[in-house]
Amino acid sequence: MQSFNPPIRTLMGPGPSDVHPRILSAMARPTIGHLDPEFVRMMDEVKTLLKYAFQTENEMTMPVSAPGSAGMETCFVNLVEPGDKVIVCINGVFGGRMKENVERTGGVCVEVHDDWGTVVSPEKLEAALIANPDAKIVAFVHAETSTGACSDVKTLCEIAHKYNCLTIVDSVTGLAGVPLKIDEWNVDAVYSGTQKCLSCTPGLSPVSFNERALEKVRNRKTKVQSWFLDLNLVMGYWGQGVKRAYHHTAPVNALYALHESLVMLKEEGLENSWARHAAMHAKLRDGLEAMGIKFLVNENDRLPQLNSVWIPEGVDDAAVRAELLNTYNLEIGAGLGALAGKVWRIGLMGFSAKEENVLFFLSALKAVLNK
Ligand SMILES: *Cc1c(COP(=O)(O)O)cnc(C)c1O
Repeated sequence: MQSFNPPIRTLMGPGPSDVHPRILSAMARPTIGHLDPEFVRMMDEVKTLLKYAFQTENEMTMPVSAPGSAGMETCFVNLVEPGDKVIVCINGVFGGRMKENVERTGGVCVEVHDDWGTVVSPEKLEAALIANPDAKIVAFVHAETSTGACSDVKTLCEIAHKYNCLTIVDSVTGLAGVPLKIDEWNVDAVYSGTQKCLSCTPGLSPVSFNERALEKVRNRKTKVQSWFLDLNLVMGYWGQGVKRAYHHTAPVNALYALHESLVMLKEEGLENSWARHAAMHAKLRDGLEAMGIKFLVNENDRLPQLNSVWIPEGVDDAAVRAELLNTYNLEIGAGLGALAGKVWRIGLMGFSAKEENVLFFLSALKAVLNK
């Protein structure tokens, strides 16, 4: 056995995205105690910066010490009580994962399906709410990474609230890549990830809960079945102003990385980050369309940071991706589920969303296809 030295890749898949060197070096700084006053000070800054990233004043805004799926689970285990009816809108892989979460918390799942590659239909959601007046929660994915479709969070939340439901929104891929306004759009609970448009290392999941959601958590009749993800306990550790109580050992160095990535987001400005993702998408789109390659998702519904394109007729999916990886150290994503072998998923997330990457990818793909 020897030290592991990973190859230097360019990451243009569905995540993780390229991590900025500033973030990697932040991670290599000395580990200190997780109750050290200096560490606690940094935790408070992480919370403040996350509030900015989510555009929220929610006090309960913090990173869960585990990847995006744990943020998802945090929302469902805290908000769903056994017997609660939850409407889950499914237009890709991650809506399907939400359904799994509802069922495992003892909730009753009502599925509302939309075709993969399309957005969540507000009309179908409203019809499901009318048909299920006892529904308590509506859950959907903002940025469906399995297809590249961007759903209308504001409208879907408005409809859910009209029928007195709480909303759980997955914005793992949305955060920092496309507009996301938790307070203005009235999102009750949201979770994200660090390894997509924040360009940080994988392993943390920023979440935010508003008062309405916390009210439901406080008034539960049953204990949250996950000790680790129980917000009542986690908040004792991440709470503002209160004396920190030991809950679990925070992933100290991973939090240095998140802090640095959020400082970088603040330096650039959220609006500028959204604009950069849109501009890089436009360049990629022009280049791909010039090669005759078509997109899965309608132009107006597209995520700039996740581009699903149809694999040209007669082209060997796996061979092209292997050649890109082996010859160019360039990673793109494969299709999932029914789209496996039919689409490629090209990520332009965070630090990966830059002109040199777009040009590099287009020329590498051209070279491989010509061969
Ligand atoms: C990546 C992703 C997740 C899961 O995040 P992990 O960090 O892989 O656990 C959940 N939802 C969406 C939309 C994602 O893109």
